[in-house]
Amino acid sequence: MSSLQRGFDQKIDYVFKVVLIGDSAVGKSQLLSRFTRNEFNIDSKATIGVEFQTKTLLIDHKSVKAQIWDTAGQERGAVGAMLVYDITKRQSFDHVAKWLEELRGHADKNIVIMLVGNKSDLASLRAVPIEDAKEFAQRESLFFMETSALEATNVESAFLTVVTEIYRVISKKNL
Ligand code: GDP
Ligand code: MG
Repeated sequence: MSSLQRGFDQKIDYVFKVVLIGDSAVGKSQLLSRFTRNEFNIDSKATIGVEFQTKTLLIDHKSVKAQIWDTAGQERGAVGAMLVYDITKRQSFDHVAKWLEELRGHADKNIVIMLVGNKSDLASLRAVPIEDAKEFAQRESLFFMETSALEATNVESAFLTVVTEIYRVISKKNL
């Protein structure tokens, strides 16, 4: 386990609220459990009674707690967002613009947004060309990655990129 992944007893320097949004069944809950607990639950039901999960990261010698919300309607005060679609479901990508509007209407105006194309392990069922997503992300000034919560591909990297960028904006440092 690297120092980036370890939990810290020491004081928390920053708490960043991050929201997961996107259509139902794109893998938001699995991305969250992969990132915070390194688990993928084959028979997961909706997580009942849990509003958010946290993970503390060490960035620039500061402990930064990411408080990650997996329920719709929690955009207020969010400084980061993972806008998730499923690379095998075109409709989930077509809805991204609507989710983005929702986010920009309710979250912090400097919100850092990562467009996430999840289920990259299902390449043979791909319905969203990576170029379409890259183009959209570039046009809207979003970060972009394809991930697999199942295979743990790019999951940590996607969250780390968002949290590090929030820190960079807030501290005005070049990391
Ligand atoms: P949510 O509604 O956006 O929270 O979606 P879930 O996290 O509940 O996932 C919906 C379904 O997609 C579940 O059956 C998951 O097992 C499956 N799933 C989630 N992530 C992946 C992934 O990366 N690859 C594959 N193959 N399936 C996934
Ligand atoms: Mg869910």
